[in-house]
Amino acid sequence: MNLSQKDQLYHWHPYTQHQTTGLLPAIVKGEGALLWDENGKEYIDAIASWWVNPYGHANRFVADAIYKQLTTLEHVLFGGFTNEPAVLLSEKLRTLLPSNQKKVFFSDNGSTAVEVALKAALQYFYNKGEQRKKIIAFEDAFHGDTFGAMASSGITFFTEAFQGSLIHVDRIPVPIPGREQESLQELEKLLETDDYAAFIFEPLVQGAAGMVMYAPEALEALMQACQRKKVFTIADEVMTGFGKTGKNFACDYLSVQPDMMCLSKALTAGTIPMALTTFTQDIFDGFLDVDVNKALFHGHTFTANPTGCAAALAGLRLLESESMQANIQRIHQRHLNFQSHLAQHPKIKTTRVLGVILALEIKTESHESYYGNLRNKLYQFFIENGIILRPVGNIVYILPPYVITDAQLDKVYQIVEQAIEMV
Ligand SMILES: *Cc1c(COP(=O)(O)O)cnc(C)c1O
Repeated sequence: MNLSQKDQLYHWHPYTQHQTTGLLPAIVKGEGALLWDENGKEYIDAIASWWVNPYGHANRFVADAIYKQLTTLEHVLFGGFTNEPAVLLSEKLRTLLPSNQKKVFFSDNGSTAVEVALKAALQYFYNKGEQRKKIIAFEDAFHGDTFGAMASSGITFFTEAFQGSLIHVDRIPVPIPGREQESLQELEKLLETDDYAAFIFEPLVQGAAGMVMYAPEALEALMQACQRKKVFTIADEVMTGFGKTGKNFACDYLSVQPDMMCLSKALTAGTIPMALTTFTQDIFDGFLDVDVNKALFHGHTFTANPTGCAAALAGLRLLESESMQANIQRIHQRHLNFQSHLAQHPKIKTTRVLGVILALEIKTESHESYYGNLRNKLYQFFIENGIILRPVGNIVYILPPYVITDAQLDKVYQIVEQAIEMV
């Protein structure tokens, strides 16, 4: 048996209906934007492996930093102790994040980063004796798959089976161009009560919804409405963080600062699972008391893992390097060129670009479901042609590692165009 066959024997994959899924390619090697499977077939990873790997697979600089940390101090518990890479990472992040983000809470993945933010928001008001037990989120949001994160997510078939067991979340429309007023009005209607602890959102781009984009000004208006009512704003930058939007963080486009931020995915350069939630001083202070019960009783075993922190520090060095910043601009410019090339295409409904993210919607007769037939056909076509892309319904998006070469990116564009012709 080869690896793919053994995989079928042993594994239960994420978001997968195994009854209708065949053998999956077994990837054995990566370099830059490229991956190879056990048969030697080459793939271009045009979505940076679910948006985690901006600086390329098997990156030597990051690997060396990890090796050095592993052979110095691989792990120490963060309950009752601290460690050097964690301190250095938070010190560095202070210089990069919005200036009001003062405290860092570590966890393991995007969902836990969101859980921490939601629990902190709810407990902050509990500690103060205020009844604020509800959360506000966008329609079609995605914040992860654990219960609080899932409750905040609005992609219905992800959460349908668990409706009775979720915290109370009310939804407002995403302020895409033309819907800004409607979104703000719906929010203001909710804010007439004092029931809400926080508003959680993916700033500027809703990743899992299919790279749905909206303007900074629209988000600023929503955040200001929340801040007037002391409802915390939680920027979930798990996808958008670390350069994807063309700036280090999507929040860098805003004149309003969020109260909390969630970071993961590209945080450790696609190596070690880690996440963090950052807070204002005011939120942190809301847990200070002589009463131990007012503390935030949340923690994960691998909190602030030194190896993960060392990987994150190496990743930030790469992000800040001139060559990586030039790569981001290069990809952005090439996306714009491809976008204008597609502008008059009869089979394309819309296209959008922000930073290294390009999305296009294919015209269809009927509504295409998230994991529907069109999506599956496109996905298979891309895989057959050695391109890793995961369309969402009729939306095809590209979010490549920043190190993708011009030739590789050209090939991705070319195969995407062929796919459009095919449907
Ligand atoms: C992926 C994602 C999450 C969840 O992260 P996991 O590491 O998969 O738990 C949360 N929020 C956003 C915006 C994401 O893109």
